[in-house]
Amino acid sequence: LKNHRSLLVTGGAGFIGSNFVHYWCNAYPSDRVVVLDALTYAGNLRNLAFDGQKNFRFVQGDICDRALVDTLLQEENIDTIAHFAAESHVDRSILGPGAFVQTNVVGTFTLLEAFRHYQLTSPRQPPQRGEPPQGAGSPTPLQQGEELIPPSLQENSKSFDLAYPNGQRRIFLHISTDEVYGSLAPEDPPFTETTPYAPNSPYSASKAGSDHLVRAYYHTYKLPTIITNCSNNYGAYQFPEKLIPLMCINILMGKELPIYGDGQNLRDWLFVDDHCQALDVIIHRGEIGETYNIGGNNEVKNIDLVKMLCQLMDELAADLPVRPSSNLITFVKDRLGHDRRYAIDSTKLKTQLGWTPSVTLEAGLRRTVQWYLTRRDWWEPLLSEEYQEYYRQVYVL
Ligand code: NAD
Repeated sequence: LKNHRSLLVTGGAGFIGSNFVHYWCNAYPSDRVVVLDALTYAGNLRNLAFDGQKNFRFVQGDICDRALVDTLLQEENIDTIAHFAAESHVDRSILGPGAFVQTNVVGTFTLLEAFRHYQLTSPRQPPQRGEPPQGAGSPTPLQQGEELIPPSLQENSKSFDLAYPNGQRRIFLHISTDEVYGSLAPEDPPFTETTPYAPNSPYSASKAGSDHLVRAYYHTYKLPTIITNCSNNYGAYQFPEKLIPLMCINILMGKELPIYGDGQNLRDWLFVDDHCQALDVIIHRGEIGETYNIGGNNEVKNIDLVKMLCQLMDELAADLPVRPSSNLITFVKDRLGHDRRYAIDSTKLKTQLGWTPSVTLEAGLRRTVQWYLTRRDWWEPLLSEEYQEYYRQVYVL
């Protein structure tokens, strides 16, 4: 009886993907974890210290490579695709949207097609007639003449568990963003799962496109998919271009802290470990075909967040080139089409699956600042010439 999972984690060398791999390998050491990652500028093998470990495999490759994805699904007998791979940075999508359409839309389409083919050609071994299914909570053997519903036509998670006593239910978990819902006015309620899509950047538009494809594959082909839309993540291993690492690194280097526009844009912040825990709950108990919003209950203005980081740095860093760090704050030309406010309502996840975030913003930021303080060896090599060039294009006084 196979009761462990076999996961394909796309984008597992990136920020959230690598945190997820760490989380999963700790929590479920007998599960098989296969990472597929193209190692773009944002992917980093140093985020994954698992090579050589039993049950872990890293494959460098593109999610748009259909033949490779087909092979991995078959070879590894994958039951769970956790799809993180994406071009993920809004500023880069403004400079060059093409890669976003390619990876986020075409890449997701390629994975869905491969998974559809896999479902049709390699359905899970059904239980033998007369043999009691041993899936979660079902003592009932198949009755004489009873028809098994083919895997590709199964609709809900419970029947999936029952239909596959020799393995886990199959699931395509698509990780997306709250940015697909667009921008909120100050008086608007937070985004729920039924908020209409209104993406404003090439990044969010490409993620919205991929979400729609995932949704369509569930409705059309009954692929067992789930979509999650989460708010801004923060924590260890986040690439220097993103707001929190950018500020930590610039403070340590005594560089200006560039803040777009008037700094009043509001974002919700989700500690990446909390996010991973939410994905765990969803992989195990989420309802197939559903969407879940994941938020941190931490709505903060950008300027206030940066001031919190300055204070933490002043407290925790021994030698800073400029003190107080807040003297480095510099307002720069606003991002094109900059969304004013995102806020996320995760009531559905709380009431249906019992998940709530457990790390406060203060505690999460403290842990993150500590991490960047001690892991100079991790971030310094990432400040390449390519990165400096990107930086000069984006932050204009
Ligand atoms: P990231 O940029 O840190 O990592 C992306 C990873 O995907 C990298 O390792 C990269 O090498 C890989 N990749 C890119 N193109 C690929 C391709 N064609 N084939 C294979 N691998 C490829 O991103 P992240 O911040 O970890 O985000 C992960 C996912 O979560 C993304 O789908 C993103 O849209 C979503 N998300 C992120 C946030 C956030 O705050 N970071 C918030 C909401 C949603």
